[in-house]
Amino acid sequence: MSHSSDRRRILVIDDNDAIHGDFRKTLEQQTPTERLANAAALLFGGPKTPAAAGAPGFEVDTALQGQEGYEKVKASLAEGRPYAMAFVDMRMPPGWDGVETIQHLWQVDPELQVVICTAFTDYSWEQIVAALGTTDRLLILKKPFDPMEVCQLASALSEKWKLKRQASLKMIDLEKMVHERTTELQRMAMLDKLTGLPNRAWLMERLKRFVARTLAEPAFRFSVLFIDFDRFKMINDSLGHPVGDQLLVSISNRLRGALEIGDAIDASDSKPAVARLGGDEFVVIQPHIQGVSDAVALAERLNAVLSASYSLNDIEVHSTASIGIATSEVGYHWGDDILRDADSAMYRAKSLGKARCTVFSPEMHQEAVARLTLETDLRRALKRREFVLYYQPIVSLADARLVGFEALMRWNHPQRGLIMPSEFIPVAEETGMILDIGTWVLEEATRQMQQWTRQIPGSASLEVSVNCSRRQIADPRFLTMVGDVLGRTGLAPQRVNLEITESMVMQNLAEMKEKLLQIRALGLKLHMDDFGTGYSSLHCLHGLPLNVLKIDRSFVHNVSLRRDYAAVIDAIILLAHNLGMKVIAEGVEAADHVAMLCGLDCDEAQGFLFSKPLTADDAGGFISQRTLAGAGAFHAELQPQIA
Ligand code: C2E
Ligand code: MG
Ligand code: MG
Repeated sequence: MSHSSDRRRILVIDDNDAIHGDFRKTLEQQTPTERLANAAALLFGGPKTPAAAGAPGFEVDTALQGQEGYEKVKASLAEGRPYAMAFVDMRMPPGWDGVETIQHLWQVDPELQVVICTAFTDYSWEQIVAALGTTDRLLILKKPFDPMEVCQLASALSEKWKLKRQASLKMIDLEKMVHERTTELQRMAMLDKLTGLPNRAWLMERLKRFVARTLAEPAFRFSVLFIDFDRFKMINDSLGHPVGDQLLVSISNRLRGALEIGDAIDASDSKPAVARLGGDEFVVIQPHIQGVSDAVALAERLNAVLSASYSLNDIEVHSTASIGIATSEVGYHWGDDILRDADSAMYRAKSLGKARCTVFSPEMHQEAVARLTLETDLRRALKRREFVLYYQPIVSLADARLVGFEALMRWNHPQRGLIMPSEFIPVAEETGMILDIGTWVLEEATRQMQQWTRQIPGSASLEVSVNCSRRQIADPRFLTMVGDVLGRTGLAPQRVNLEITESMVMQNLAEMKEKLLQIRALGLKLHMDDFGTGYSSLHCLHGLPLNVLKIDRSFVHNVSLRRDYAAVIDAIILLAHNLGMKVIAEGVEAADHVAMLCGLDCDEAQGFLFSKPLTADDAGGFISQRTLAGAGAFHAELQPQIA
């Protein structure tokens, strides 16, 4: 079977059936090897070529009339077994003559190689060319035939046909492959690699299309839900990126499930679709809404789905999402605008306490503008010397002695007045400005402490604590920067504490440990700030070169509300002491806090009870007062508790 399909098909169209027999004899009866060897020798003048050995044979078909030949060519194509070539007689009364026949044949099979057979000069070559065009598919064979000549033509032309055909099949394959690849690439460009959801590029295209549709078709309304996971950053920072990725995949699967989405990219325009914008930001587009209440209902349903707990690497994680909603009813001309407004609404939802959804209103746009203005102003603040440091005293609970200060930043904004760090530090961190700002803080705080040391007797043992951001510690120039700053201000490194947070350390424990050891090698001490708000346990802190644990103020505050918090603080203090760390309690506001903390053997405290953060001048006064009066001044306040 494979042999016959390898044979090259030849069609002989001649009104004389005796001729059919001649062709058969000549082409079919010779062994292929002999025939091709002969043909090759004739064509190329050499001995038999190796390629000719074992070449396929011919299969001859015949027709008595042009029309009949034409039908056979058509049928051969339909069967997928086309003829390689045809020998066509010039005169075939009563039907088409050779030229007419060839015209028809080429209409259905332009690849067909043709030999026109003629005894008389019915047509001149010029006439033939005029009728059939200049082509490389046509040769003339004069009657009477020389069998060798027939073989030669059959071999050469069918070989040429085969090569051309292979090349064109390859081209088709190639084109198909190129087409498949480009479609795939286009798809990939619209896909988020991690979650398999459509990405921002896809979203923007769909928004553009939907906005255009609302303009053309006023009854068409849609909503955009901007979803941000409330604790993603914290989970990502404390449990590490691989776990963060796992969480993102879980979130996207839940969204897919809730929206009943299969293949999201090809999702039809008439159903809700979800895309991942980046980070923990997802956007749902909901078409065909009646009004905003449809969007709110969907948002609430999604929030319920998202807030069920997640199990990541055997750790149970709980979080909610904040969802901002914008609907096309506002009247948009650009996809960017509706997305921006949904984003503003999401921001508002977060600031209202998370785990909720908020519908966009125009004043939120003002807020977004305000955020941008803040960023621009912040860029200029350092040069214009608008930052100031406040200093909050830290006291020893055992003897009410002042042990030092925590430096806390304020921004003295030319129009807005004093701005608190919670408003601008996140922006500074996001934009990277925290690097320069952080350097300034360290320099200013240590310069100030050195100045007090020179000016106020008895202050030489005071320490200063400076808050550090993750980006600062991660910066490769951090150690050099610290060394340089201390070199300039002249303060002994032993009197400088760097406050870091759990989430900074937990993300990359091994690398961080190395960095922290290098900081300690410079002589500085390390304080773990806000302990208890992250995901780490005391167990994780084991082996880190930390000197002090600062218990977050939420623990201290809750003690007055719930007694069992005292047991938690007790345990933290006990374990910290076991790990060789001192403990500072933050947010001490009331005398009964002090009583409780003293009872639990807490080392030091900081809070409004002792003092709010003070300007440098006031802090200087505070030092003088305490050191001149001795510990007694404080002692008097604390006496009832400490005794
Ligand atoms: P933090 O390091 O935990 O600082 C303690 C915060 O608690 C300060 O808020 C302080 O004013 C406040 N506080 C102190 N005692 C009490 C109290 O008894 N009750 C209450 N309710 N609060 C009290 P502040 O100054 O607004 O700073 C907020 C946060 O901003 C700081 O938290 C710190 O994380 C960050 N921050 C401040 N200055 C800097 C800085 O120079 N660099 C960096 N990277 N972050 C800073
Ligand atoms: Mg702090
Ligand atoms: Mg703190």
